[in-house]
Amino acid sequence: MATYRRLPVSFERGEGAWLWSTDGTRYLDALSGIAVCGLGHAHPGVRDALCEQAGRLLHVSNLYHIPAQETLGERLCAAAGMDSAFFCNSGAEANEAAIKLARLYGSGRGVQRPDIVVMEQSFHGRTLATLSATGNRKAQAGFEPLVSGFVRVPYNDLAAVETAAANRAAIVAVLVEPIQGEGGVIVPDAGYLAGLRELCDRHGWLLMCDEVQSGMGRTGKLFAHQHEGVAPDVLTLAKGLGNGVPIGACLARGAAAEVLVPGSHGSTFGGNPLACRAALAVLDALAEDALPARAAELGERIQIGLRDGLADAAGVVAVRGRGLMIGLELDRPCAQLVAAALAEGVLLNVTAERVVRLLPPLIIDDAQAEQIISTVVRIVRAFLGQAEHSHAA
Ligand SMILES: *Cc1c(COP(=O)(O)O)cnc(C)c1O
Repeated sequence: MATYRRLPVSFERGEGAWLWSTDGTRYLDALSGIAVCGLGHAHPGVRDALCEQAGRLLHVSNLYHIPAQETLGERLCAAAGMDSAFFCNSGAEANEAAIKLARLYGSGRGVQRPDIVVMEQSFHGRTLATLSATGNRKAQAGFEPLVSGFVRVPYNDLAAVETAAANRAAIVAVLVEPIQGEGGVIVPDAGYLAGLRELCDRHGWLLMCDEVQSGMGRTGKLFAHQHEGVAPDVLTLAKGLGNGVPIGACLARGAAAEVLVPGSHGSTFGGNPLACRAALAVLDALAEDALPARAAELGERIQIGLRDGLADAAGVVAVRGRGLMIGLELDRPCAQLVAAALAEGVLLNVTAERVVRLLPPLIIDDAQAEQIISTVVRIVRAFLGQAEHSHAA
């Protein structure tokens, strides 16, 4: 079906941050399959784990114990300060699990029709419930009736959540991205997550962080909420978790960890041995190579490089982000920059119409970071109609 507008290129091979198209051209991947291949392509640790597991056992069903799933659950919970894990196959499914968990948590406390607070410009997935939670009217248009039970407030606005609390007695949870990805790489003010935590504590709500995009080391810590020293009750992961093997997770802590019980949720494929081995290899590599710290350092360098290179370019609104989750906002729609970058051998993305988004693999080297900076500066200057040489004097 025509669900995607595809660029005129196909890739047959990758290694690290490089991709080769079927006509033999080499590209620098500054998108990682949209924050998926954080370790780059053909990572040896992931490859070996997958090959070994493929020759042993791919799938058995959650009717049985799955040791790799239990190990992965324990390691993720230890890293995130959580108590239990549910495994699925995508970000949308991880958020579906969180939404169902929140509703069951509410109904268990006698709330008849529980509401979940969600944010403007948020993105939580394309299934009906996650689309309903998503703050993008264009993505929702035509799919009504949407799932009810979501209360929408502006992002980065604690007062709006207070107002919602005063008006809606049935709120049971807040679902929030610590950094909004699809919405335009929007980083909230310091203290926002802590403020949400405080509100959730005061009202007995669950704080649910959607780290499908911001998780797995990309922002400079394993999970973006850790920058704020805030512990969510529910944490959803996917994208970078399997480095390209589909896997999602919904982690929970404290009372939230006990909500889902046999019969209340499930998945045929979720947490199968193959996917869990891939995710375990990802956790190993992130730790062994200290990749979150590297992402923090490189992200800083790329942001500075973009700011310096575009300092005098009228039309640049902001360079922002955390670690290797970077957005460059322009004052006008700039979707054609994707093709311009492709022509220069770099893969990137434009989101929210005006934001160039960079999500390179965490393993990029210094020269690759420089190439990303120089290419983006060049194509953005050309796009804004300011040839570099005109500013040489
Ligand atoms: C990509 C994304 C999702 C949806 O993940 P899928 O695997 O495409 O279902 C959910 N939340 C956030 C924050 C995302 O970036």
